[in-house]
Amino acid sequence: VPSIYILGSPVHTLTLQESVQHISKLLERGGLHQIITANPEILYSARKDEDLQKLIAGASLVTADGIGVVWAARQQGEKLRERVTGIDLMAELLTVAGSKNWSCYFLGAAPGVAEKAGQKIKELHPGLSIAGTRHGYFKKEEEQIIIEEILEKKPQLLFVGLGAPRQEKWINNLFKTVTEKQARNLQQAGHIAMGVGGSFDVFAG
Ligand code: UDP
Repeated sequence: VPSIYILGSPVHTLTLQESVQHISKLLERGGLHQIITANPEILYSARKDEDLQKLIAGASLVTADGIGVVWAARQQGEKLRERVTGIDLMAELLTVAGSKNWSCYFLGAAPGVAEKAGQKIKELHPGLSIAGTRHGYFKKEEEQIIIEEILEKKPQLLFVGLGAPRQEKWINNLFKTVTEKQARNLQQAGHIAMGVGGSFDVFAG
């Protein structure tokens, strides 16, 4: 994937449609893939947060989310054709999910919001299957149950709306807790996880 470096982190220079095509290929290829829509705040935090910087460098796709990122690229003389925001990428992926019967899991936002967003999304894309929804105000001790539920349901698309960069770290931690045996099972079909900030609130209306 073509990329440039902004504030020490790689950002891939794909358009929205190219990003969707790339993610579709990753799903066909198999394995676990983290997608990051990198806004200036995340990239600035990553400069002082080594774990976050490593996580971004290890992601399967890092899109430029924010006009500030597009400008930063331009100042380096690099062409970044368009910004790819979390909500736009999520909306496009849901459309493809509807036509390909992909399963989705929505984690995050206040109680009831992810569920309502799920209902509205299902109305828009009846072909998509909702593997599960869960709100984002859980206690530390509930985290293991949530992780087990996601690993059991094996959604093709996992959307996490806990705010950045917490959601990115949460996804990275989820991937790290996958055992070797689970990884072999999960390898056959692809699995995509991405942070979506407050997008569930928008979809719930
Ligand atoms: N949120 C959550 N659990 C928390 C804190 C926040 O699920 O403990 C949700 C919140 O309800 C909102 C989203 O995370 O839906 C954060 O949205 P925001 O637009 O602030 O995300 P950012 O732009 O910071 O990524």
